[in-house]
Amino acid sequence: MTSAFQQPDAQSALDAIRPVSVDLDRRRTLRIGWADGHLCELSLSLLRRACPCATCRQEREAREKNPLHVMRAGEPDSAMAEEASLVGNYALRLRWAGGHDTGIYEWSYLRSLCVCSARVS
Ligand SMILES: [Zn+2]
Ligand SMILES: [Zn+2]
Repeated sequence: MTSAFQQPDAQSALDAIRPVSVDLDRRRTLRIGWADGHLCELSLSLLRRACPCATCRQEREAREKNPLHVMRAGEPDSAMAEEASLVGNYALRLRWAGGHDTGIYEWSYLRSLCVCSARVS
């Protein structure tokens, strides 16, 4: 079995972050099929929390320093995506219910969020 896990060559590393299909279920999941054959299903609530924009990053950092966690009312709703669009060929932009759309998710970032992720270096 060990021979199947040789050092990936440059092409297969690239394939692991090159999507061939992207499916958005606005209420639940984002499904991404990768060129290396792997299929990822990412929950929207996870993606919402992992929003890479500066505002959300700062909010996350502030929250990590604060031991008090208060769920804001209406927060579950904000994990509904209204739209997904491609940014060049390197990333996906998600627009959330409420209009937040500054998060640009690079493919390598999306792949790293996947729980089943085979690590992509
Ligand atoms: Zn996956
Ligand atoms: Zn954000």
